[in-house]
Amino acid sequence: MTAQGLLLVISGPSGAGKGTVCRVLMSRQPQVRYSVSATTRPPRTGEVEGVHYYFKTQEQFEAMIAQDKLIEWAKVYDNYYGTPKEPVMEALRSGRDIILEIDIQGAFQVKEKYPEGVYVFIAPPSLEELRRRIEGRATDATEVIAKRMKAAAGELDQAGKYDYIIVNDTVETAALKLEAIVTAEKCRASRLSSLKPY
Ligand code: ADP
Ligand code: 5GP
Repeated sequence: MTAQGLLLVISGPSGAGKGTVCRVLMSRQPQVRYSVSATTRPPRTGEVEGVHYYFKTQEQFEAMIAQDKLIEWAKVYDNYYGTPKEPVMEALRSGRDIILEIDIQGAFQVKEKYPEGVYVFIAPPSLEELRRRIEGRATDATEVIAKRMKAAAGELDQAGKYDYIIVNDTVETAALKLEAIVTAEKCRASRLSSLKPY
């Protein structure tokens, strides 16, 4: 019986806690890899090239699109973001689980190509709490926060198109739910290539 790697796609409004919850999952399930995206957004304080993102100029990013090096890409809040193809392909080829933390436009592109992926939407308990979290993170300028809050309501309207919705009320319960989803999805009969114990 061979288990295939899981392609786990996580979306949700900026500030909902996707990064926080994914980090807890990866600390508990170290076999899960993180797909490092490329972006034209400038690095925030503390962000490290190749760990949080591959930081690109617009020209470099457009060259990656032209060379078909991205599984998906989208313009989010005025910057390009995209998922490099090769690391994802390599993880799936070798049976490893991989998380893509990407926006809704990107998630729908990936779903077209990989319907067998697992699509999880992380929602904040309320828009007020979302604002508190974005402001509390203290990484974005006022006009950037306003753009992200404006986009959030539209993003929440799309949550029903995902396989699972996790309301991130506390980090601990949200991480437990994500872990439960991974555990259950790995037991899906359709992911286990053969089951012949006798
Ligand atoms: P995202 O990756 O969705 O943009 P982050 O993981 O950066 O969001 O979280 C945004 C902010 O909210 C961070 O400061 C984080 O510590 C905080 N946060 C995340 N989850 C929770 C939670 N359940 N309760 C309170 N604060 C949270
Ligand atoms: P941030 O600037 O806060 O890191 O990310 C902004 C938004 O871009 C988030 O919704 C995040 O999920 C999304 N994002 C990050 N990487 C990618 C990617 O590779 N592709 C797409 N489509 N969206 C991404």
